[in-house]
Amino acid sequence: MNIPILMYHKILPQRDNTDLTITCDQFKKQMQHLKKSGYNTILLSELIDFIHKKISLPQKSIIITFDDAFSNIIEYAKPVLDDLNFKAVVFVVYNAIDKYNLWDIKKNIEKSNCMSKGELKYLLMSGWEIGSHGLNHLDLTSLTSFQIKNEVKKSKEKLENLLRTGIKSFCYPYGRYNEKIIKEIKKAGYGCACAVESDNFFTTDNLYKLRRIFIKPKDSLFTFKRKISPWYLYYRSLRRR
Ligand SMILES: [Zn+2]
Repeated sequence: MNIPILMYHKILPQRDNTDLTITCDQFKKQMQHLKKSGYNTILLSELIDFIHKKISLPQKSIIITFDDAFSNIIEYAKPVLDDLNFKAVVFVVYNAIDKYNLWDIKKNIEKSNCMSKGELKYLLMSGWEIGSHGLNHLDLTSLTSFQIKNEVKKSKEKLENLLRTGIKSFCYPYGRYNEKIIKEIKKAGYGCACAVESDNFFTTDNLYKLRRIFIKPKDSLFTFKRKISPWYLYYRSLRRR
């Protein structure tokens, strides 16, 4: 099955000079388009249950993900999604909870607040899913086996303790992964992991290499529609072969 999985980072009133910020206006139009087209948002945990337990999914399913758990998602994205009865998945960097995007500062990207424990709990109570994005947002392919285990397993345990809920999904920082990392993800007990690029034919072929659609600030509504279309998903699967 080819379920589109959208990747967002920040939603803010104004654009900045990065690829990470979508304006509120743009986001609202994109979400309204999804609603009008009959899409239903599902969580990654539902995708896992569909694959393993054959628990059925709505006809036109789509997954919305937000990397890095920025507070601006609660302020600007959540009200839009609430209005449309949509839900989403947020990937948290454990050591950045209630702090900011330390990993971006080194790259001269603007400082943004990351969600607090209270904000994460609020999302869970609203029916959203929280996944792990590691302890420190490190490129896992540059780490030793011990460090990988630490980032993958410890972040799951710490998040589960903090939020008192099972953490089923992981998101590779910078979309970087390899077979050794996938092994650790499985060993830690995650049911799936999100990448950006993958050699999956269908998005659901391998739950540990979930390909996502990077929605960029320069995307017009027309481009957005094209990016979620079945033929675009098919085209991207061919491009990676
Ligand atoms: Zn990230």
